[in-house]
Amino acid sequence: MSSASDDVSQSKETILSRHREAAAEVVPDHTQMYIGGEWQAAASGETFDTLDPTTGEVLASVARGGAEDVDRAVEAAWEAFDEEWADTTESERQAVLLEIADRVEEHAEELAKLETLDNGKTLMEARIDMGSTAEQFRYFAGAIEIDRGQTESGDGYHGQVIKEPYGVVGQIIPWNFPLTMASWKLAPALAAGNCSVIKPAEQTPLSLLRLMEIVGDVVPDGVVNVVTGYGEEAGEPISTHEDVRKIAFTGSTTVGKQIMRNAADTVTDVTLELGGKSPIVVHEDADPHEAVETIAFAIFANTGECCEAGSRLFVHEDVADAVLEGLQGAAEGMTVGDPLDEETDLGPKVSREQVERTMEYLESAKEGGAEFLAGGDAPDDEALEDGCFVAPTLVEGLDHDHEAVQEEIFGPVLEVFRWEDYDEMIELANDVDYGLAGGVITNDIEKADRTARDIEAGYIWVNTWHEMSPGLPYGGYKQSGIGREMSVDTLDHYTQTKSIKYGLD
Ligand code: ADP
Repeated sequence: MSSASDDVSQSKETILSRHREAAAEVVPDHTQMYIGGEWQAAASGETFDTLDPTTGEVLASVARGGAEDVDRAVEAAWEAFDEEWADTTESERQAVLLEIADRVEEHAEELAKLETLDNGKTLMEARIDMGSTAEQFRYFAGAIEIDRGQTESGDGYHGQVIKEPYGVVGQIIPWNFPLTMASWKLAPALAAGNCSVIKPAEQTPLSLLRLMEIVGDVVPDGVVNVVTGYGEEAGEPISTHEDVRKIAFTGSTTVGKQIMRNAADTVTDVTLELGGKSPIVVHEDADPHEAVETIAFAIFANTGECCEAGSRLFVHEDVADAVLEGLQGAAEGMTVGDPLDEETDLGPKVSREQVERTMEYLESAKEGGAEFLAGGDAPDDEALEDGCFVAPTLVEGLDHDHEAVQEEIFGPVLEVFRWEDYDEMIELANDVDYGLAGGVITNDIEKADRTARDIEAGYIWVNTWHEMSPGLPYGGYKQSGIGREMSVDTLDHYTQTKSIKYGLD
């Protein structure tokens, strides 16, 4: 691993002044909640700090929302729905979504910098996020045009099936792709004709607040309401609110289960996108060099903070030594450091708490007899000591039922297993509670097809990773979730079906 202190652009002082300068430039003016088209403080008057995970400094104090604020937001959303949004035509909503996409693109560099400051992802990764954010709004602007109604006529009757919006939906998003996850939820919800009460994660509220500053004059008041705050205080009241007709949540499986229990009380529809522990299967014919590139991207992109990260590697014995040697070189060759520096490959984790969680798993892996082929700790670099850094880590030798293998670490940590017997390997690959994603690396189409079908997961990559297209549904098998995001299918999750039968006799 390259040390940041090898490089003056990554010295502690340079990093600090670069971040302060960037924060002065891009942190939004409004850090209250956005409710009914107005910036509003929390009813309690309280705020919480959002930190820069690179420097540990406070970026902004943000309104600490609670149940009373959620009530206000839900009321504003229904008012907007009843008075205006429910009556909009598809083309009117399409125009709004297209304008949001254009403005995200116009402000992409500024939004990317803000995302990097608040989340810690590298600027390059944040720029990619802004591209996909704009793409989501544009995709669903087009998807609105797809007529999903049906008619049916028979002897003496005419039948019609229409799709109606729920009205007000609650959307709770995570901190790993703050603005992109917001777009995955807002774009289909608005396209289908709903109004939203949306809560960004407490670690990363700023990009969504800035987005509302940028698009506030395009989106009618009350159509999007942003409630900031902690999960139990601001998230829970959304998921238990009697007037919220649908909940979409992305986050941990533990909280997802709680949301589902809450939704049971009001028989509210839920879409859940939860954790993952995705297997990467490397076959014996794979080119080790290409495999290393794909695997390193699968686990280290976004500092491993991706639900779909490839975090368990099953590499065929015939290519295992070459692949592991290459991976070791890749992990050790990464520049870990300031995510605002264009040379950086791996930024910090989002928070101190997340670093501690990762470290606990690494400690437990050590106790479980793991051999660390790379990393295993924080980087040994004074310039990074105030940040939330974890070195890219490769772990071999753990039993597959060890907690570090079974549970989601959500960091740059890859666990390695060698295999010779395909059936035994697939059994292990599927032997986790999760089923979000998986992947296969091979040049043999039959092997690719077989493994893609054998992995129990909702999204499979062949010789690539993380790449998503708005037209391909994304979501999990098993405990990784319910429902899908992206693709026109998502419009079904944001609408309810009504049949109308006309008697003609
Ligand atoms: P992580 O553990 O990775 O931080 P969480 O599942 O806790 O992930 O958080 C994802 C989102 O869910 C965040 O916006 C968070 O505030 C919210 N959240 C956390 N707990 C609850 C809860 N009990 N009810 C509703 N939302 C919650």
